Amino acid sequence: MELRASNVSRLDGGTFDVLIVGGGINGAVSAAVLAGRGLDVAIVDRGDWAGFTSSSSSNLAWGGFKYLENYELNLVRKLSLSRNRLLKAYPSNISQLGFMAALDHGSPFPPWLAALGSSAYWAIGNFQTHRPQFLGPEEIKSQEPVINIDNVRGGIEYYDAYLRDNDSRFVWNFVRQAIEAGATAANYVEMTSAFQHGANWNVELHDLETGEQVSLTAKAIVNAAGPFVDALNKQWENVTEHRIVYSKGIHLVVPQLTENERVLAFFDDTQRLFYVIPMGRRSVIGTTDTRVKTPFTEVTEQDRDFLLEQINARLDLDEPLTKEDIIAERCGVRPLVVLNDGDDHEDIDWGTLSRKHEIDLDMERRIVTIFGGKITDCLNVGEEVAAAVEKLGLALEDDLGDWYGEPADEVRDDFMRQAKRMKLDDLRHKKGVEPLSERLWRRYGRRAFSMLDEIRQKPEMGEDILASADYLRVELHHAARHEMITHLEDFMLRRSKIDLVVRNEKIREGNGLAEVSQILFGDASDTKLAEYLAKKDAEARV
Ligand SMILES: Cc1cc2nc3c(=O)[nH]c(=O)nc-3n(C[C@H](O)[C@H](O)[C@H](O)COP(=O)(O)OP(=O)(O)OC[C@H]3O[C@@H](n4cnc5c(N)ncnc54)[C@H](O)[C@@H]3O)c2cc1C
Repeated sequence: MELRASNVSRLDGGTFDVLIVGGGINGAVSAAVLAGRGLDVAIVDRGDWAGFTSSSSSNLAWGGFKYLENYELNLVRKLSLSRNRLLKAYPSNISQLGFMAALDHGSPFPPWLAALGSSAYWAIGNFQTHRPQFLGPEEIKSQEPVINIDNVRGGIEYYDAYLRDNDSRFVWNFVRQAIEAGATAANYVEMTSAFQHGANWNVELHDLETGEQVSLTAKAIVNAAGPFVDALNKQWENVTEHRIVYSKGIHLVVPQLTENERVLAFFDDTQRLFYVIPMGRRSVIGTTDTRVKTPFTEVTEQDRDFLLEQINARLDLDEPLTKEDIIAERCGVRPLVVLNDGDDHEDIDWGTLSRKHEIDLDMERRIVTIFGGKITDCLNVGEEVAAAVEKLGLALEDDLGDWYGEPADEVRDDFMRQAKRMKLDDLRHKKGVEPLSERLWRRYGRRAFSMLDEIRQKPEMGEDILASADYLRVELHHAARHEMITHLEDFMLRRSKIDLVVRNEKIREGNGLAEVSQILFGDASDTKLAEYLAKKDAEARV
């Protein structure tokens, strides 16, 4: 039975220690830690894994230099240490990179003050990154010719980190880790109702793929519904100390603006920082910060015009960027945590609202709710959720720290030795593209060993499958078996980032997409392909 169907059938009638509602970063990390520490865990999402906020981020693991503006020293310290921890635990997936900030006459700080701030930031992060530097306008120009320095007074380069693949693949890795530790997990399953009955919750779920009802019981619930946590708590009549408000942010993916693997940082006309972030052979411009009342948002003409105008004014491009240059867009809401004190928080300065997270525990109802947070802080969220669940009386095994992170260096070395012996990297030579061995290791870790076997047995498994997508046929076969791909978009946009970096016309060229669908869905491939294309057409019309 395929992976999702077997998990759904295990959910139905099952008895679990904990049900986690929501498979974004907060739910996924909770599942990984709780299953890794011996609990019987179920996790569901009504969309795909990371299908909501956790696939709209800037892909940065960072201490939040900009939060120093609001004197949030504690938060910056915590996030910087979390970033350091992630860098250590995920050496292939999370890389340090420079943030070059060019400060013009409209910037809220003079370059000397920014330099002072960057040194403080470096110290707050225990000096674990490269040393920040002060840069004059000419130095900025010589290192990044694309920056227009006409109005620039000077700048700095400080260091943070980013996710080399995308946020949603990072989330998926936690779900996979949870499954490997024994969790039962299903995407496209909605929690529709839950009632506490004695020591247990009786939960009704709806399988959105088959239309069937699924029932289970759980001793406790983790509400990890991101922007929807308040709605669920309301449904359960659970009164919490905190609640959330929404801040919308968008990103535009455009052709690569600088070949250097660093972030370019600028203050926009409203004196808010925005960035040009590397994504393979593309650049991502963003983000914005707009207060909204609903989690359901979209990129508006105004959003696009604003970001394009801001970036064009700060770069020296042969031709200014236009809407035609946009390859893909991302849009999401940050669930920001505030006190649930009856205040509507209308009059607060939006930019100063903290990006921290809070975890509320209702001992009687046996509900743990995660409010807000950052991908960067995910390991702390996991540990805090585990501590909260333990307080409910559920006995967890000792934390051996093995529920997260990449395999040990020796395992990586062994993989690299095997890849070298079979001359894997000779299969493909593309300018500016990382060697195949590194790519496979980063994406699949231990599972990449079996891919080597498959390529050895069938050389066609080592061929590219979509012309410019950097995906091998063997990866598709692996995804079909192990990555719970239910719709073609799950693969194109979230397990991979093909939809973000390859133009629509290019994706549709030739037979590649049909083969992808065939490998992923077999007999259902035509239907799944038609569904994906219809969605893309509808998006293109907007
Ligand atoms: C524009 C932007 C940029 C950001 N940049 C960064 C960054 O660079 N670095 C960083 O660390 N953080 C960043 N963040 C913050 C980070 O992305 C979010 O804090 C995080 O993704 C929130 O994750 P979550 O798991 O709480 O929510 P989500 O990812 O939204 O997950 C909640 C899930 O719950 C599911 N759900 C809801 N109700 C139900 C139900 N009844 N049944 C089943 N499932 C349900 C939803 O389908 C959803 O998938 C950014 C956020 C935004 C919006």
